[in-house]
Amino acid sequence: MRPVAADEVDARRLEHDLRASIKGEVRFSAGDRALYSATGANYRQLPIGIVIPRTVDDVLATVAACREHGAPLLSRGGGTGLAGQTTNVAVVIDFSKYLNRIVEIDPERRLARVEPGLILDHLRKTAEAEHQLTFGPDPSTHEYCTFGGMIASNSCGVRSVMAQFYGPGPRTSDNVHELDVLLYDGRRLQVREGTSGDPEIDRRLTELRDRYADLIRARYPDIPRRVSGYNLDDLLPEKGFHVARALAGTESTCATILGATVHLLHSPPVRSLLVLAYGGAAEAADHVMDVLEHKPLGLEGVDETLLEDMTMLGKHKQELSLLPKGRGWLLVEFGGETKEEADEKARKLMAELKKKGKDGPTGMKLYDDPPAEKHVWAVREAGLGATAFLPGKPDTYEGWEDSAVPPERLGQYLRDLGKLADKFGYESALYGHYGQGCVHARWNFDLKTAEGIETYRRFIEEASDLVLSHGGSISGEHGDGQSRAELLPKMFGEELVEAFREFKSIWDPAWKMNPGKVVDPYRITDNLRLGTDYSPPLVKTHFSYKADEGSFAHATTRCVGIGKCRRTEGGVMCPSYMVTREEKHSTRGRAHLLWEMLNGEELDLWRDEEVFEALDLCLSCKGCTSDCPVNVDLPTLKAEFLSHYYQGRLRPRTAYAFGLIDQAARIASKAPALVNFVTQTRRSATSRPSPRRRSRSGSRTGRSGTAAGAA
Ligand SMILES: Cc1cc2nc3c(=O)[nH]c(=O)nc-3n(C[C@H](O)[C@H](O)[C@H](O)COP(=O)(O)OP(=O)(O)OC[C@H]3O[C@@H](n4cnc5c(N)ncnc54)[C@H](O)[C@@H]3O)c2cc1C
Ligand code: SF4
Repeated sequence: MRPVAADEVDARRLEHDLRASIKGEVRFSAGDRALYSATGANYRQLPIGIVIPRTVDDVLATVAACREHGAPLLSRGGGTGLAGQTTNVAVVIDFSKYLNRIVEIDPERRLARVEPGLILDHLRKTAEAEHQLTFGPDPSTHEYCTFGGMIASNSCGVRSVMAQFYGPGPRTSDNVHELDVLLYDGRRLQVREGTSGDPEIDRRLTELRDRYADLIRARYPDIPRRVSGYNLDDLLPEKGFHVARALAGTESTCATILGATVHLLHSPPVRSLLVLAYGGAAEAADHVMDVLEHKPLGLEGVDETLLEDMTMLGKHKQELSLLPKGRGWLLVEFGGETKEEADEKARKLMAELKKKGKDGPTGMKLYDDPPAEKHVWAVREAGLGATAFLPGKPDTYEGWEDSAVPPERLGQYLRDLGKLADKFGYESALYGHYGQGCVHARWNFDLKTAEGIETYRRFIEEASDLVLSHGGSISGEHGDGQSRAELLPKMFGEELVEAFREFKSIWDPAWKMNPGKVVDPYRITDNLRLGTDYSPPLVKTHFSYKADEGSFAHATTRCVGIGKCRRTEGGVMCPSYMVTREEKHSTRGRAHLLWEMLNGEELDLWRDEEVFEALDLCLSCKGCTSDCPVNVDLPTLKAEFLSHYYQGRLRPRTAYAFGLIDQAARIASKAPALVNFVTQTRRSATSRPSPRRRSRSGSRTGRSGTAAGAA
């Protein structure tokens, strides 16, 4: 079915109706829409408007209003989705600000009931502190990704290995017990094993399942990280007709998740980290099965290129120098009730590997210092950030960044993938969840020229042939979205893709849920954020932007949507987000708005009030320059913006007070008594400056600028 164009919906009337019917926030301004137009994926689509619900009733009313107006719908959590599933020409419901609580933890049954906007680490912290329980799959974005996003993307992580050995299974879907969902037609259902909560839907799902059962058994690869496609296999009788699991991973294309009950598992309180070195990444991968026999909690791989990239960026220098000598590494985590128990498991593995002699690792190191262990894990988690922008090298992008094969085939897959990349002239570190055959990469695609985009497309075709020839999945954790959905017929065959269509139609007969994603998708090369039209204006700037080859435009592309600035605690980035929990007051939001100001059709270059408003709360503390994995330097971008914004205009009084302090001090020193007399008056010199203006979102904004901001 054709996705709806924005102008087919009367956005003004919809906005009006939403304002009248919900307690939460309704945001349809140009800046609001621009803010939600992109994530870390290669795509950009301007939404129709944003709703930030305060209550579940707000969500019900929002869906009702969208239905009334025929508007497509999309949910959003942390906005870290990497496959283009979190952007669309739709009304976006942002669950992250208010609907983000733990409803209940039942330690006896090892279950937790959560709201969809709850951040994973918020549950993990409480469950561990109070019950020594945890949620298994932990994406690298665990500090800010939400349960809604994880369930809808079917996320995984380092501890998916733990969830595979000691819990219900490696993926988020395996760890879902029950979902509270809302359909576009207004039906609210409690979906679990055995039922969708609606007899008619059960009947149709059973009929669909029976018709396709043999094909599902034949075509679904039996590997830990099959994330591509809908989970029709969970409807099979041998899997208990688990409708909640089948609905997980549907990327907002079938239903809106209002709440979830998820499985928890015991979290061994003490961990040990063993690092194994090999002659190369593929050799390391060849040995994952030896390690898996020992049932670790995590088994990750990093290659030499990732370490070289980190070294080039001057990151984690000390930790890198302490790794055992080699050119490919396995990071193995064991757990226990005591340090001795965890270490003993690691030593047992070491003893066995030693017996392999030359066929074993070239080096082994069992860490005994928790801060050092934390740093080694940080090296692994920093992967995407460390590979995005390397000095003197072309920019890199997602697109083929989470393919997965059976772990026993990983070594050969890495060799073949390396050869394929060489053929196309692409480069990337190859690291990731080796224990489950899932490989991360970030390739230097050219997404700005027709030829480059065509080459990227050809590479994706050949890479998908390759992964399927190894019995793998085109997505091993980030989902299909738009980056991979077009390839699903290749992986599952046309008949099963027809089954996906029928599955979606059962839940969303009007096809208004996240249209153009997963099934009947936009093409991989549609809606590119860059693309052949990418031609930012050449602006004259005050700063030199050395890390961005002198380009302000490039400095605004630096944010790759990781979302670390949406952490709610820890680190120094970003204080204004921590207080407001507003996307526009995060480093990412501000960087995205500056990108939109230069390239989008909605915002005014240098004079936009909404960009001003977003930058206004930046304290210029420079927290982002050190904490942000790709070193977005917001204070510099803010100073640049303000200098243009104020060109030919009066600045706030505070700016003159600070900016001219040297001259004022010189004059004051000539008549100190007079100055002391004047400055001891009761009235403060730092009162709010200048006129107030109405922003496009309708709010009133002042013009206080910080000293650095007014530079
Ligand atoms: C640097 C980086 C590292 C990453 N590492 C990992 C990793 O290790 N493992 C991994 O699995 N993923 C990883 N990801 C991808 C991403 O972080 C995960 O998929 C994450 O779980 C998404 O959560 P979110 O809250 O940000 O979701 P969002 O991006 O907000 O949403 C993701 C999808 O879920 C849907 N959705 C959100 N809320 C709801 C709801 N209430 N109802 C219905 N649908 C909803 C959205 O519409 C969208 O389709 C990484 C991403 C980045 C940028
Ligand atoms: S400099 Fe601004 S954007 Fe960066 S962390 Fe500080 S307040 Fe946030």
